[in-house]
Amino acid sequence: MNGAESYYRATAPGDAYAPLAGRQEARICIIGAGFAGLATAMSLMEHGERDVVLLEAETVGHGASGRNGGFVFGGYSLDEQALLATVGAEQGKRLYQLTLGAVDQIRRRIAQYGIECDATHGGIYLANWFDDPRVLDERQRFMQEHLGVEWQRISPSDFAEKARSERYFGALFEENAFHFHPLKYTQGLARALHAGGVRVHEASRASAIEARNGKGWRVATAGGEVLCDEVVVCCGGYIERLYPALAGAILPIATYVMVTEPLGDRMPAVLATDAAIYDTRFAFDYYRPLQDSRLLWGGRISIRSRSPQDVARLLYEDMLKVYPQLAGTRVDHAWSGLMSYGRHKMPQLGRLPSGVWYGMGFGGHGVGPTSLAGDVLSAALMGELTQVEQFGAWGLPTTGGPAGLLAAQLAYWYYELRDWIRQ
Ligand SMILES: Cc1cc2nc3c(=O)[nH]c(=O)nc-3n(C[C@H](O)[C@H](O)[C@H](O)COP(=O)(O)OP(=O)(O)OC[C@H]3O[C@@H](n4cnc5c(N)ncnc54)[C@H](O)[C@@H]3O)c2cc1C
Repeated sequence: MNGAESYYRATAPGDAYAPLAGRQEARICIIGAGFAGLATAMSLMEHGERDVVLLEAETVGHGASGRNGGFVFGGYSLDEQALLATVGAEQGKRLYQLTLGAVDQIRRRIAQYGIECDATHGGIYLANWFDDPRVLDERQRFMQEHLGVEWQRISPSDFAEKARSERYFGALFEENAFHFHPLKYTQGLARALHAGGVRVHEASRASAIEARNGKGWRVATAGGEVLCDEVVVCCGGYIERLYPALAGAILPIATYVMVTEPLGDRMPAVLATDAAIYDTRFAFDYYRPLQDSRLLWGGRISIRSRSPQDVARLLYEDMLKVYPQLAGTRVDHAWSGLMSYGRHKMPQLGRLPSGVWYGMGFGGHGVGPTSLAGDVLSAALMGELTQVEQFGAWGLPTTGGPAGLLAAQLAYWYYELRDWIRQ
């Protein structure tokens, strides 16, 4: 195995941006160059606001955004039923539609800015793990009746042919979805921002955010400071102690990914589709073919960080449960990433009473929602608050620190056990 380096990092070294040095002034300072921070800067730039500094502690896409499964699809971490149950049918549908708009927006940006990110427009399958057709019946009906979305039903035999696995009991197909190399996409966004005049700084960890006597903010890093009118925190599960009012409202939860050696002409025996696949369990597998004939495999949720060797071992076992024909296949890369979860599993977008803006809590379903968060936050920064108010219902309830993490792990085991009993 190639150590701890992710496949994404190994195949996309990226451009380098100088650390912040000395004092800079800007109208807006965004902290965190993951999808949320980058999308906010993009949306500001596309609306003519370029007086922006984007600070990244490590390198662009260092967090979840440059490590994820690469699934680009509709929806939030909170499932659709729960979404509608919380805000009502009409508002729930509206919020869901925003995520479909975000999928289109990502497609548009890839084309408009010429971002080469191995985008594969083959759709995504939701595969039924359980020998119970009601799982798919109910989901398909709900999506159609309540959200106006058609997910195509694939019979068990047709799906077994496409997925080349006997493990599943049919699937639903989300045609408009796609998958891509997420780190290349973050790097492409950063390049477009830099070309457009936004100041991007890597190796620039914000160490303090201080209010300046009625004159905006001072954001400090080891090498400099940004004096700005507005500050936006987009640090995801990597926020650590930066701003306790925000850090205390999310749980950093790990999930794992590995990538096999190139399968070459063995690939058709594993997948007869370009689509990505996930399944109907609470803790589902998610996997997809890569353009160089490797298989990317992700899964598990944990409060523990594990060594790449442990990640590879666990995921390899999972993979063989679905693809016994891959026994003996080498794993070349394995890594983990941190997601940020609010207690309610919805994105947390808004402004603290102190005046600090935030966009976080995208959980394990954040590629689309971060893109729409960029639009919502940029509109708010330009004085248009109706969009951000739509997310006000969820707020920033405390997640309870270490006890909250333990509770999350217990809940995960409970759901895992429930799925195991059901199967
Ligand atoms: C392994 C994995 C698989 C996933 N798969 C999918 C998927 O297939 N599809 C999907 O929709 N979602 C997926 N997700 C979720 C999705 O990746 C996230 O929801 C999304 O990327 C969150 O983006 P973000 O910008 O909020 O956070 P991040 O991408 O984590 O970005 C936060 C950034 O802030 C920086 N930062 C932190 N503190 C500071 C500081 N003090 N100063 C400066 N910078 C700082 C970090 O270095 C980091 O770059 C997955 C997540 C993981 C971890």
